[in-house]
Amino acid sequence: MLVKILGSGHSGGTPMIGEGWGGANPLNPKNRRTRPSILVEDADTTILIDTSPDLRLQLINANVQHIDALLYTHSHADHLHGIDDLRAINRCMNRWIPTYANKQTWDDIAERFGYVLDPLKGDTKFFYKPCLEKNEINVGDRFKIGNFVIDVFEQDHGFLKTLGFRINEFAYSTDVVEMPESSFSTLSGIDTWIVGTLWEEPHITHAHVNKAIEWSRIVKPRRLVLSHLSHKIDYDEVSLKIASDAELAYDGMILEFPQN
Ligand SMILES: [Zn+2]
Repeated sequence: MLVKILGSGHSGGTPMIGEGWGGANPLNPKNRRTRPSILVEDADTTILIDTSPDLRLQLINANVQHIDALLYTHSHADHLHGIDDLRAINRCMNRWIPTYANKQTWDDIAERFGYVLDPLKGDTKFFYKPCLEKNEINVGDRFKIGNFVIDVFEQDHGFLKTLGFRINEFAYSTDVVEMPESSFSTLSGIDTWIVGTLWEEPHITHAHVNKAIEWSRIVKPRRLVLSHLSHKIDYDEVSLKIASDAELAYDGMILEFPQN
């Protein structure tokens, strides 16, 4: 099992339009961050989580032509609006993409990108648009994709709830500011945990660096990886500060698991 971080940035990316590199050193390639998507893979199965607005280049860089399942954490633009790039995956696979999201996300997809749910017109077999096969999931659900067992847990993102995913011994928690007690029990026993942390100071909708580190003292993963990073985070500077507790993500980072 492998996890590939396709995009480690926040909604604005680094550098950010109008604000440039912020506190991040432009000479360090690990500070160039695209918007958030990740891949979870083993030899047989590939799962994509979220469709960042930078999806096309992310899928090209990771050489992805096949997705067994797409999971959505929530419908904010930085996690959803690359959806049209999935058309190329439909073409490569010549089939619809099994997609899993909660009701709120499906409602937002239907409103903003309803065409991805429409059938192909007439006798057309050619994927001239993205085609997503709708599966509605809820907090507490457990389902299987290939060898992966997926547990869905709740996260508080301030103005809305997002979904966290435990996938075997790995968990992904992006866009979360508070974690309900029940989610901590779902996380118990994981090996590696990615948590979205915007920057070092508290924020009303996102965890900050020290909050994720506090949570990890409860969950006790072997590896805590902080992602969804803003332009205020300099890779080398913050990595040094948190070295004994956590690592920072970067675009293209690959996480391996001990059983492999
Ligand atoms: Zn986000």
